[in-house]
Amino acid sequence: MFNLTFKALGLDCSYLPFEVPPEELQATVEEAKALGIAGFNVTMPHKVAIIPLLDKISNEAYQIGSVNTVVRSSTGFEGHNTDGEGALRALRASGFEPRNRKILVLGAGGAARAIVHKLSSEAESIVVLNRSEEKSSIVAGINRGVAKTYSAKLSKTELEKNIGNTDLIVNATPLGTIEMLNDFKIPLANIRDNEWVFDLAYGHSSVQHGPRLRVNALEMLLQQAGLSYQLWFESPAPLDLMRSILTDQNGGDWR
Ligand code: NAP
Repeated sequence: MFNLTFKALGLDCSYLPFEVPPEELQATVEEAKALGIAGFNVTMPHKVAIIPLLDKISNEAYQIGSVNTVVRSSTGFEGHNTDGEGALRALRASGFEPRNRKILVLGAGGAARAIVHKLSSEAESIVVLNRSEEKSSIVAGINRGVAKTYSAKLSKTELEKNIGNTDLIVNATPLGTIEMLNDFKIPLANIRDNEWVFDLAYGHSSVQHGPRLRVNALEMLLQQAGLSYQLWFESPAPLDLMRSILTDQNGGDWR
């Protein structure tokens, strides 16, 4: 998406993937600086570990505790997080408004942290369920606003209690919600017709059966990438162009 965008706009830039082993992270950041790299994205498993290796962290990335975008500035490398705002924009672009709504978050990793941080200033309540109960309570504690939060271990009982009693399910695990409900032997019909489902992991949202109201992972990919672009170039992202490029790469529109 970025390379075709740069080409279409005549920008002399390239976006390259680097697979970085955890023990090489510090050396990689130093080499990126020495090479004059203008900015980069950070993904699993480095979003937390990179924080002490950067020269500055935005308030939002600091509060979330994870960085997904790094920008070169006159003072060095600055860390930002566009996952929370990207998720919020994806929800709104899909027709879901989080204000005063009940939200169920499955998972308690970096993406869940960013989403709870962002949505807690608007939602009525947020329930966080995770395999490791300790992590779910830490993520529920990232609440910065009006939302009432509750956390528990991910279990059949908690899923049955909360699915069907929420306005939006945000699945921030690598599993799709349909797959997760199947694993727990919970009927899909427990999800009400007016309940939204947002599977963050790619590939699950294209499932044809199941919930009617869906937010696609690619919408969040686009929105958080647009925010990264804005940080790197200090100008609004060409979102329509990026959407068209991603649609072509995906083989069709996801909306
Ligand atoms: P992460 O930090 O590794 O967290 C993963 C979370 O999923 C953890 O809470 C983990 O539980 C839970 N989990 C893993 N496997 C599970 C399973 N089999 N059953 C139940 N829970 C499981 O990852 P992340 O960065 O938050 O990303 C989560 C997902 O979102 C990934 O698939 C990623 O690709 C996707 N994502 C998408 C976008 C987008 O733009 N669409 C952006 C960011 C992330 P434990 O704590 O118990 O290990």
